[in-house]
Amino acid sequence: MDEPITVESRIAPPPLSCPKCGGLLPSELGDIQCELCGANVRTDHAPTRKKWEEERLSCPSCSKVLIAGVNDRPAELRCGGCETQFTLTAKVIRVEIQCPSCERSLRMKQRPGERTITCPACEVPFKVSF
Ligand SMILES: [Zn+2]
Ligand SMILES: [Zn+2]
Ligand SMILES: [Zn+2]
Repeated sequence: MDEPITVESRIAPPPLSCPKCGGLLPSELGDIQCELCGANVRTDHAPTRKKWEEERLSCPSCSKVLIAGVNDRPAELRCGGCETQFTLTAKVIRVEIQCPSCERSLRMKQRPGERTITCPACEVPFKVSF
């Protein structure tokens, strides 16, 4: 088996919060589970689904511009030009935060909940929560 080829979608649903605990939900649509309180939440957002369906992307193999045509992420796609199959994955939300000690900007993946990270510049640990 070849390595699976993936392309990251550029479109993400708007940030949604859990109706039970008010925390940030994972950036997905459909039946999802709150990572903070475990509640099962059904989310949907028609404008995002429409944008997903119409999303244009370049084939990772031959760079031909393709239209996703699928209103869900991840989606299995096949390039009409070179027949390469690949997975169009959900967009990973990245946020910029500032280290409270040295004020350096750090880019990180946005994940629900609180966690402690260590600043790569000054090595002081601090807490972040979303
Ligand atoms: Zn929750
Ligand atoms: Zn191609
Ligand atoms: Zn720092």
